[in-house]
Amino acid sequence: MVDQELRDKYEVVIGLEVHAQLKTKTKIFAPDKNEFGQEPNSLTSPITLGMPGVLPVLNKEVVNMGILAGLALNCEIPARCKFDRKQYFYPDLPKGYQISQYDEPICINGHIDINGKRIGITRAHLEEDAGKLVHAGANGLAGSIYSLVDLNRAGTPLLEIVSEPDMRSPQEARAYMEELRDIVRYAGVCDGNLEEGSMRCDANISIMPKGSKEFGTRAEIKNINSFSALERALEYEIDRQIELVEDGGEVVQETRLWNDDTRETKSMRSKEDANDYRYFPEPDLMPLEISREWVEKVRSTMPELPNQKRQRYQELGLSEYDANVVVSQMEQALFFDKVLELGANPKTAVNFLTGEITAYLKENHCEINNTKLTPENLAELISLIEKGTISNNIGKQIIIEMVTDGTKASVIVDKKGLSQISDEGAIKDMVRKIIDSHPNEVEAYKNGKTNLLGFFVGQVMKETKGRANPQTVNKFVREFLK
Ligand code: ADP
Ligand code: MG
Repeated sequence: MVDQELRDKYEVVIGLEVHAQLKTKTKIFAPDKNEFGQEPNSLTSPITLGMPGVLPVLNKEVVNMGILAGLALNCEIPARCKFDRKQYFYPDLPKGYQISQYDEPICINGHIDINGKRIGITRAHLEEDAGKLVHAGANGLAGSIYSLVDLNRAGTPLLEIVSEPDMRSPQEARAYMEELRDIVRYAGVCDGNLEEGSMRCDANISIMPKGSKEFGTRAEIKNINSFSALERALEYEIDRQIELVEDGGEVVQETRLWNDDTRETKSMRSKEDANDYRYFPEPDLMPLEISREWVEKVRSTMPELPNQKRQRYQELGLSEYDANVVVSQMEQALFFDKVLELGANPKTAVNFLTGEITAYLKENHCEINNTKLTPENLAELISLIEKGTISNNIGKQIIIEMVTDGTKASVIVDKKGLSQISDEGAIKDMVRKIIDSHPNEVEAYKNGKTNLLGFFVGQVMKETKGRANPQTVNKFVREFLK
């Protein structure tokens, strides 16, 4: 670990390249289904297998999603883009080249804002994913000297989103990555699952003496599969580079692999330059012309994005904190929207969602959509509270039953007799009973121990199992003790 004083001598520069798998039904250039978790090599037409003489056909839905993502990232969509071949040999890429975009990508000049800071997006381009190697020893494969190839993933559409080197700390890089994930998820183009690899991040990082204008040589870190791993890998790499430079060494441009178990990066290969790939225009695909009408048509399908949702929730009276919490859990935010559409009070709804419901979901490792709670049932519960039929506390007591069994609040309230007692006469009688049976406390109260007020109210609430209207109870306790 490099100490803080030494760290303060350097400025850190970070740029991220993020690959997002697009959620189209079929692959980018072939009719095979774009699905995860299928029988190995079952989604492999001759095009995906890279058989000689086959021709790629561009999937229009990929372009639609590319445009939508670009607009969500505040990018320009140039009137023309094209595809290029990027040559490299890899066992899970049978063609011997990847169809990608090089100097004319589908999206350019975008940005996203994180905590008031703008992070530039240089470009975002479309390309095909490679297959997967499954090494012996992994996934329950016996032995140790062979690897299997699964080409189901080959040809999955990817959008590679390249940021400007605008981030200055691992925390900023994480915040950018999280916002990016939320944006593509809300836009509906990618499911944003880092663990399953539907979103993957390569982090470029360099250091330079504080105040310098000239960036240092960057290392590229691969194999990062969670947000916390991103932060850890960058922290490690900062220390490694500082120690290297302080010892008189030099950072070399290379690709390093992060190992989240040993918590260190290891050199994988020296970094190839663009010319090593011998890019050239893909002769089997026409350049793509994207009319302004096409862009506008796609724009008109844009769902509400995270920052717009946060703002709308705050306008409804949620705190900034609550708005952030809800938006960061997309399933819950979409659920919340349905509850709001049914006319529920936003603050009460958010308290249930971020409180009891979130605790339950965490404990049971599930999403709100996999529970039996419906927006209609939550909205009904909230209206019972608003109308004073039940207290907020009773609501908290029954919400979990609603989540696990799908029972309506009104049904539970009737069955268990939980409705609030608001009848003034009945409450007055109960208060009198409590006062009469606690003469010592009454005496103490009259001698100045006024904080016993809460005691009497509490006794009545206990007696009624929380069902008495607390305001009414309070009123009568005060009256009797006068
Ligand atoms: P390559 O494909 O060779 O990695 P790209 O242009 O696709 O190149 O990506 C370069 C990434 O590295 C960008 O995200 C950019 O912001 C970042 N980057 C460039 N220079 C530096 C640097 N000196 N330090 C940190 N990051 C850098
Ligand atoms: Mg790179």
